[in-house]
Amino acid sequence: MLTVAEALARAPELADVSDSSRLDLELLLCDLLDKPRSWLFTWPDAQLTEAQVARFEQLLARRLQGEPVAHLLGYRDFWTLRLKVSPDTLIPRPDTETLVEQALAHLPAAPARVADLGTGTGAIALALASERPQWQLVATDLHLGAVALARENATANGLDNVEIVPGSWCEPLQGHFDMIVSNPPYIDPEDPHLQQGDVRFEPLSALTAEDKGMADIRTIAEQARTCLRTGGWLLFEHGYDQGMSVRACLQALGYTQVATVRDLGDNDRVTLG
Ligand code: GLN
Repeated sequence: MLTVAEALARAPELADVSDSSRLDLELLLCDLLDKPRSWLFTWPDAQLTEAQVARFEQLLARRLQGEPVAHLLGYRDFWTLRLKVSPDTLIPRPDTETLVEQALAHLPAAPARVADLGTGTGAIALALASERPQWQLVATDLHLGAVALARENATANGLDNVEIVPGSWCEPLQGHFDMIVSNPPYIDPEDPHLQQGDVRFEPLSALTAEDKGMADIRTIAEQARTCLRTGGWLLFEHGYDQGMSVRACLQALGYTQVATVRDLGDNDRVTLG
């Protein structure tokens, strides 16, 4: 027999594998028991059934091997949405909510055309679509697995103002847009962090870009000039140490009002122009 409190104290060695070991255990238990996180703290003495204990031990063993919690559960919560995830795409991260916030802050809640490039699970486009039903969103991704997943996530969340189309960055876009947003791959392929933690289970094509992580950002910034209406906004997520490079790239291409915004961890995260 195992209580909720005992389950949450299991496997202290998980802290060596995960920098969010306590949260990982909570998310696994919530899913298993089909309860919100607050329930775990209200009912620490509740007993897990034998089947739940067996399943919990199984998931814990896989987590100890490094598999991301989102892959174990099959979903990740992002913004107000529950998104299905698969090994075909990046797992949505809280840092990316800064990009969503900035996108919402830079256009009025009036009809607008907005594109999300390299949408993956659809996280950014779907979060924007849920907040702004009057916007018309187009999301692109080169990978057909991602396109299918993002479409599934749009349907599951009841969002019908997002069109998800296959293709590279701006290539599938038609006409002009009020805003283009992207969380493209931006990690330097030489970065040693790629050998550690959850990123080992994510597609490299969603993580790394040549030229110290700048290659795709530069390509998108070049292409977007012909897809934005005059006065339209381009917003990128990027690495904590890339603010200056992304600003320089946008300025060299003729973008104005270029600025960088920090995330909740106080790191440079989003640059716009
Ligand atoms: N922020 C992610 C990480 O550091 C990378 C996301 C990306 O490359 N777009 O793992």
